[in-house]
Amino acid sequence: MVANATEPVLGSAREREDCDKLWLASGSRKHELAAVPVTLFTYWHISGLYGLYLICTVATWQTIVFTLLMYNAGALGITAGAHRLWSHKTYKATKPLEILLMIFHSFTSQNTVRHWARDHRFHHKYSDTDADPHNATRGFFYSHVGWLLVKKHPEVLKRSRTIDMSDIYNNPVLRFQKIYGAQVILSCAYILPSLIPMLWGQSFSDSWHINSLRIILNLHASCLVNSAAHAFGNKPYDKNIAATQISILSFVTLGECFHNYHHVFPWDYRTAELGNNRLNLTTIFIDFFAWIGWAYDLKTATDEMIESRAKRTGDGTNLWGWGDKDLVKSGEKVEEIFYGWGDKDMKDTSGVKVLYTQG
Ligand SMILES: [Zn+2]
Ligand SMILES: [Zn+2]
Repeated sequence: MVANATEPVLGSAREREDCDKLWLASGSRKHELAAVPVTLFTYWHISGLYGLYLICTVATWQTIVFTLLMYNAGALGITAGAHRLWSHKTYKATKPLEILLMIFHSFTSQNTVRHWARDHRFHHKYSDTDADPHNATRGFFYSHVGWLLVKKHPEVLKRSRTIDMSDIYNNPVLRFQKIYGAQVILSCAYILPSLIPMLWGQSFSDSWHINSLRIILNLHASCLVNSAAHAFGNKPYDKNIAATQISILSFVTLGECFHNYHHVFPWDYRTAELGNNRLNLTTIFIDFFAWIGWAYDLKTATDEMIESRAKRTGDGTNLWGWGDKDLVKSGEKVEEIFYGWGDKDMKDTSGVKVLYTQG
């Protein structure tokens, strides 16, 4: 299909103007509920609440440990896989690591990586406008889960061809997950996690509901990055965007809530500027796989890049000891808009540090 003449062209000045118009045009909207997600969400939450009761009453310690491991593996499938590897290309992975991350991602039942990465690239490219699938200007509930329960905004659909997804579509591991999506997700997210605890005597039914609890916790942890990290917190790197630093949530999101930083440097594999990684389990995970050779070309910003950007567009909060708030200018516009590494709108790559390069 040829792009409609009224559609924005990727990377053009018109696209920037288009974003500005979207900001201004975000008026009230009559939402149309999507029946399948509403039914699934209702079921998951009722089943998950019963799962919480079972955790407190009949769950064995093995089931609790297993559920925690599944939670963390699923979360890593989202953070290290769908987010940092596939949506933003912040590093490269060998085939075994890609397969592992695809399986981890399937534990969460958050659709396929194709869907996930597409929504996420839209989120970065059109942040907090109607073309952002979870537009935070529509309120906390909408950006948290509301957007999943209603039909997509026409502005998102209109721009469906403005984001380059060729790398994702041509990836054989992700193609496999797309083609066998129902079987892979049903097995990884539901059947196996309910069967495995039977090995130590937990019933299938109890495990099923406890697993529902794990799925909704994985879901809400991911959603907090879209809602809370666009509502509360500081903006040390760009005060003109909605994304914020809310480091306290990085514990449950495995390091994903240094979000003001992440929107400014979406190609940084750490998604955080902190020198230590105590709150960033995903970075520890990627570093470990880089150490054994399964992850490579890890892109990260130098301290000088971070400091100069904080001085130029930050809000003056000096969380990490960089910058002087007296140097911060006010009223600057959002600068470059790109979804991650490889986006042709990213003009200046000169200061980027690349770790564990191959060949
Ligand atoms: Zn965001
Ligand atoms: Zn992101």
